[in-house]
Amino acid sequence: MFLSKYFRFCVHQTVRTLNRDSYLRKRYSTAAVQPKVDTSFVGALKSIVGDTNVSTADAIREQHGHDESHHAVAMPDVVVFAQSVDHVSKVSKLCNDTKVPLIPFGSGTGLEGGVNALQGGVCLDVSKMDQIVQVNAEDFDCTVQPGVMRVGLNSYLRDTGLFFPIGSHCRKN
Ligand SMILES: Cc1cc2nc3c(=O)[nH]c(=O)nc-3n(C[C@H](O)[C@H](O)[C@H](O)COP(=O)(O)OP(=O)(O)OC[C@H]3O[C@@H](n4cnc5c(N)ncnc54)[C@H](O)[C@@H]3O)c2cc1C
Repeated sequence: MFLSKYFRFCVHQTVRTLNRDSYLRKRYSTAAVQPKVDTSFVGALKSIVGDTNVSTADAIREQHGHDESHHAVAMPDVVVFAQSVDHVSKVSKLCNDTKVPLIPFGSGTGLEGGVNALQGGVCLDVSKMDQIVQVNAEDFDCTVQPGVMRVGLNSYLRDTGLFFPIGSHCRKN
């Protein structure tokens, strides 16, 4: 009696899991059949950002396939280091035209697995975009590129008497 109930419970749970996975795949998949990132695609990326700003090395892909969360590593097929808005725009257009997933990467300190490349694709690392564009001391605001870190910004601001306080316990950001 107990075993029969337990068996039915197991079947019920399995069906629920399969239904949920199928729902999530339909809801969040970008394309039913994802195009493969091949050498010609990587070549197209290199022609946009230059050879040295594109990497398919395992170590670099592994580093970009996770953040600080507990989720398992999911590596992108290729990592691109953008150095300008023009790079970001052209890489985004290429990925959009070819339906290849594109994942922005700041420093990988997210806590929800947002950078994990569940369907592979391109990881767009913006850490080389580290210019401080404008500081408006009177308004207490500034405009920075996405790779600027808290420590770098505070070093830049030190003569103004201002500082950026958020996440002061966070070493990297
Ligand atoms: C020890 C620790 C302490 C922290 N303390 C604080 C805190 O005090 N206050 C606080 O607010 N947060 C805190 N956080 C969270 C941290 O600020 C987030 O991890 C941060 O927002 C992620 O930024 P990132 O550049 O590392 O992004 P990533 O981890 O690289 O990415 C996070 C998400 O944003 C997307 N993304 C990255 N860059 C871009 C971009 N340029 N454009 C669009 N999307 C992008 C990614 O695809 C991903 O989905 C802490 C995290 C840690 C690990």
